Amino acid sequence: MTSSRRQFIRTGLGLAAATSLPLVAGCAAPAPVAPVARSIAPGAFRARLGAATITAVSDGAASSPLADGFVRNATLPQVQQALREAGLPTDRLTIPFTAFVVEHDGRRVLMDAGNGQFGAPTAGRLLANLGAAGIDPRSIDTILISHFHGDHINGLRDRDGTLAFPNARLMVPAPEWNFWTDDARRAAVPGAPSGDTVRRVFRPIAGSVVRFQPDSELVAGVRSIAAYGHAPGHTAFSIASRGQTFAYLGDLTNIAALFVRNPDWAVRFDMDAEAARLTRRRLLEAAVTGDWIVGGYHLPAPGLGRIVRRGSGYDFVPLS
Ligand SMILES: [Zn+2]
Repeated sequence: MTSSRRQFIRTGLGLAAATSLPLVAGCAAPAPVAPVARSIAPGAFRARLGAATITAVSDGAASSPLADGFVRNATLPQVQQALREAGLPTDRLTIPFTAFVVEHDGRRVLMDAGNGQFGAPTAGRLLANLGAAGIDPRSIDTILISHFHGDHINGLRDRDGTLAFPNARLMVPAPEWNFWTDDARRAAVPGAPSGDTVRRVFRPIAGSVVRFQPDSELVAGVRSIAAYGHAPGHTAFSIASRGQTFAYLGDLTNIAALFVRNPDWAVRFDMDAEAARLTRRRLLEAAVTGDWIVGGYHLPAPGLGRIVRRGSGYDFVPLS
């Protein structure tokens, strides 16, 4: 025995280690394996969650100079300070776009559909990145849409009208559909985007779009969660398997360093800022309490992680 080993045992640490080992080895019920996000291709990360597989697939990103007003209720110096604390540039904002594929119970479900041909030149990568990840768009059998802002639905149809996911059943929140197809309601919301995108995407296929009510089971164990505020029918999705929960939060938050950290801040795209703020607080707290693995459309790579409490707000901790 080496002197260091004798020293180790004399201190009692060795004894503690020696006695605890058989207990660990004899433990009958193994704890669920903590999910990790594995890079499977450029722009794609995969995590196992119980019996489900979650793949985060990048649609690229859009970068623009940071302007006053991006956060409605914080000053430019406050926003810059939050970016600085996160180690991000303070003169530009880069907003990532990430869609999610959930495979469970023999189904392949896409959550949100990317910018397609209608976003920044650095966006619209979803189809290419799905291909790199080995996911044929024709194999997607269900698409769940969180809300009708262009960066989430434009990828459904290209300029000449071709459907990107021809075999998928398209499911959208009924409250979102009802709002965007009602010109008077849309016109009554100051700053609401025009209905042009919604008309372009949905009008030719309106008869086949399934409109679901919130807080219901949709497909393969995936449930919808009403998350109104960012848009009138904005909806999150969750799936639980073997004691673990994944929740796709859509646009509950924009850039994590700003809006997960400061859940009371309103991004300028929040259509009802106060409803969005309350929803953000409710679901971020639920994510902590439930130890959810969360995905978010504008969260940083890998787009998957956990929410932890920090000060009066929260933090996004990416899955590694
Ligand atoms: Zn968005």
